[in-house]
Amino acid sequence: MNECWEWPGRKVNGYGRITQKPLRLAHRVMYEKYHGCTLTSRDLVHHRCENPGCINPCHLELTDRSNHHRVFHAPTHCINGHEFTDENTYIRPDGRRTCRECFRARQRARYASDPEFRRKKIEGRRERRGR
Ligand SMILES: [Zn+2]
Ligand SMILES: [Zn+2]
Ligand SMILES: [Zn+2]
Repeated sequence: MNECWEWPGRKVNGYGRITQKPLRLAHRVMYEKYHGCTLTSRDLVHHRCENPGCINPCHLELTDRSNHHRVFHAPTHCINGHEFTDENTYIRPDGRRTCRECFRARQRARYASDPEFRRKKIEGRRERRGR
């Protein structure tokens, strides 16, 4: 990746701000100029360089507001430090990611400590086998 172009003007929360009307974020205007497009309020321009004050179009990537954090700012590891690799990641129906290794550990712990849970698991296995 080449160098960041730091916005020389005013900044708000680290983001470059254009001070003439209409007041807009500098990197969004830069993106529009560079790509010749018009951004809507649903569009979010993400900084690949993680530098909010940067307006280098090569560092800017268009994404959807609702996907932005999940896709670009998702943690790389679970709270117990397991890496979210493709094999180790389960995407829940609500779009949140779950660590498979932690899930398995939770299941094992429950299996060991909860007789009711153990009984159900064993029954479930028997039923599947009986089919
Ligand atoms: Zn940059
Ligand atoms: Zn971002
Ligand atoms: Zn984990």
